Parts: sequence; C-alpha cells; structure tokens
Amino acid sequence: MNRTIIINYHYIYDQAPVLPGFRGVTTDLFLKQIAALKKHFEIISLANYVSDRKRPGRFCVLTFDDSLLENYEIVFNILKQEKLLGTFFVPSQPYINQELLNVQRILMLIGKLGVEEFSKKFYSLAKKIGIKREAKTIIDINEAYRYDTLAVRDFKFDLNYQIKYPILGQVLKEVFVKEFGNEQAIVEKIYMTENQLKEMEQAGMGFGIHTHTHRILSRLSKTEQKVEITKAKNFLDKTLDQDSKFISYPFGMPGTINQDTLAVLSGAGIGFGLTVYRQTNNGSEEPLLIHRYDVNDVFETNGDLKENFIG
Ligand SMILES: [Zn+2]
Repeated sequence: MNRTIIINYHYIYDQAPVLPGFRGVTTDLFLKQIAALKKHFEIISLANYVSDRKRPGRFCVLTFDDSLLENYEIVFNILKQEKLLGTFFVPSQPYINQELLNVQRILMLIGKLGVEEFSKKFYSLAKKIGIKREAKTIIDINEAYRYDTLAVRDFKFDLNYQIKYPILGQVLKEVFVKEFGNEQAIVEKIYMTENQLKEMEQAGMGFGIHTHTHRILSRLSKTEQKVEITKAKNFLDKTLDQDSKFISYPFGMPGTINQDTLAVLSGAGIGFGLTVYRQTNNGSEEPLLIHRYDVNDVFETNGDLKENFIG
C-alpha cells in the first residue's frame, strides 16, 4: 500500500528571522525534521510521486510555497547536502510586476507594527475608502488559522477571505508604503531571483505555479482564474524552459478552489494540484486534489514526528 505525506513549508530562517511577521521554521529545526522523516519515510520528489502513485511504501514529499529568498539561501543548500529534491511553488506577480503579494505585505506589517497597531491603521484607512466584504464565507475559520491566536486569526481572516480585493489591495499598498517605502526594493529582498530559480532547476529541484497574485481562486470569476493560472504558467515555463504540470493553490484549504478552477487547469495542461487538505495520500486521490499537510500538522515543536505519522 502507498502512504505518502506531502509537507508544505513556507519560511525557513537562520538565527533571527529577517521577517518577524512570518511564522516559520529555524534551520536547526528543519534539519531535525528532515532527520526524523528519514527514519520513517523515504523522501522522494513530487515528480517521482506522481509518476507512480500506487507504488507500495511510506513516502514523504517536501514542498515550499511563495518563492521566498530563504528557499534558495537555506533550503536549497540543505537539500543538496542531504541529497534530497524539493518542489517549489512560484507566484509570478513579484517577477512580472515587481510587486509584493498581499500575504507578504500583511506579514511584514504584522511583524513591524504588531496586530493591534496594524489593524487600527488598516481599518481607519479602509473605512475612509468604504469597506466592502464578501456576501458569503467560503471556508472554516478554525481550519484556516489553527496556529494563530484569536485576535490574529480574526484579522487575518477578514483580510484574506472577507474584504473585497480591490479595497484590500488599495489599503494594504498605502499602509505598506508608509511603513516600508518603495515596494520594488523590498521585492528583491523577499523573493528568489529568476537566476536562482534556474540554478535550482538545473540541480534537479522541481517547480510549479502558485498563481499570479496569490488571490483565492474560488473568489474569482472563471475568466479571472484563467488569467491567474496562465500568467503564472507562461512565466514559469519561459523562465525554466519547461512545461509546468504542478500547481499549489493559494491558501489551499477546502473551499479555496471550485469547478471553474479544475476546468481552467485541465485546459491549461496542469495535471496535478496540491491542496492543504490535511490528509495522507494513497494514490487514489484526484490528481488535481492531492492532499498536503502544513509543517505544523506533522511535527512536534522539538522536530520529532507527531505520533500518528510514526510507522
Ligand atoms: Zn502561498
């Protein structure tokens, strides 16, 4: 029987985080986690998993979302040392428009101002412009923010799921520029460069798309979803000279994609989609709905595997 866990990482940092708002894993902890995984799983690449999803055994796949610079500076080196292959999911907006994604704007603002101060500044400006929210809630708030405190959870939920995108973007940009100055200079400090992506690809690392702007696909029209997916695919295909077959859905919880998403992906030739449906795979899951865990679901705080993953 096949039992494959796919782990989703974002931010891995050395001693002190450069980006204090980003919840992440230290280098030391990451090394401990790898050691624990090696004891209980064979660590394989995503390409390897999808090439034979029914192969008997206990496998683990490592994935890294958002194209953060530390994925090159830290993760890539560790994977090379350990002779492992990871798969990295790249949003195209930072490369094509030299703009930050909203998720990183939010985390940097939380890091600098704290939630209370940031939310005050955010809502006072948003109210001036006229705040509008989605009519219905698409996901379970507790599922989305398992690892945040209540105050942080409510604010992040409003920002990421409820406030209409045009207003959100306008307010975030304005608050961000006041606190950090010009975004373009910060883009270079936050994300991997195109040359770094190429170098990693040549060393065997895998790459997939993470849409263009990282907005929640199910909140967009089919036409907007198509733009999100094709822009990201064209960018990655051209940069890495490949035909991209993988997507990691922004946020990725149940409710963040819909039938339009699946139709657009099939049309675009993307065959495998990674969710954050927190379950183990056995090869019988839908190829566009492959299950994946957040790193916090899998490990204890000391880097040991949680008991249900030990076999
Ligand atoms: Zn992401």
